[in-house]
Amino acid sequence: MGLICGCECKKCGYQFSSLVGVGFLYPKEYSDTIEKMKNGFFGNQGKEFWEAFPDGAISCERIVVQCKDCGSLMAVPELSMYIPKDSFNPSTVERKVPWSTEFSGAGYNYVSFSELENHYELFEMYDHRCSKCNSNTIIVPGFTENMIDGIDRHVRCPGCGNILEIEIEGFWD
Ligand SMILES: [Zn+2]
Ligand SMILES: [Zn+2]
Repeated sequence: MGLICGCECKKCGYQFSSLVGVGFLYPKEYSDTIEKMKNGFFGNQGKEFWEAFPDGAISCERIVVQCKDCGSLMAVPELSMYIPKDSFNPSTVERKVPWSTEFSGAGYNYVSFSELENHYELFEMYDHRCSKCNSNTIIVPGFTENMIDGIDRHVRCPGCGNILEIEIEGFWD
């Protein structure tokens, strides 16, 4: 199930809100995202991965990253890249359980999280770059892991440097 999380700065008026996690259209997002990676939409790292490992897999949940330089917040698919450790093939596997009640996922080539864990091993984490200044970014766990106790739910304001609280605004499943 996905969350809508956001933050708002009372000092400078900056606002950010995004869908995070995994929603019911995941199988479609998964196959759309792979097409984008192959076309270089997410940079060379993704393009080269699919050229080297056509039978690879990714984790496609939505996360929020922050630029180490300019502080911009961006919602991106996680994109950790995995390679198979057995002969599992998502295009021929017969799934007995549909993805969700609203959306079966049938007809889409995707790898679920349990399949990822059982049949694949991590090859490389994705190095997300800032869409504004191309610098390195870090993941802000306060968005994706907002439901977990003890997670730091704060983030630095990209506008003024104020510390903002990340709040859950709703659900999107
Ligand atoms: Zn930046
Ligand atoms: Zn601010």
